[in-house]
Amino acid sequence: MPAKKPRTGKSAVPKCKPCKGTGEVSRTVRVGRKHRPVGEQTGMCLSCFGTGHAPTE
Ligand SMILES: [Zn+2]
Repeated sequence: MPAKKPRTGKSAVPKCKPCKGTGEVSRTVRVGRKHRPVGEQTGMCLSCFGTGHAPTE
């Protein structure tokens, strides 16, 4: 019979640090030649590509 993987009960997937596991990060939006900040915009986290999971090595 196949061996079952033991269940730990807690999530084994570490959260992505830059986005805190949300998959999205807020970044400052700049406009104009002087790059004046006009606010923040939420974008996909480039560290985990929106999954919210820390990249595994
Ligand atoms: Zn992330």
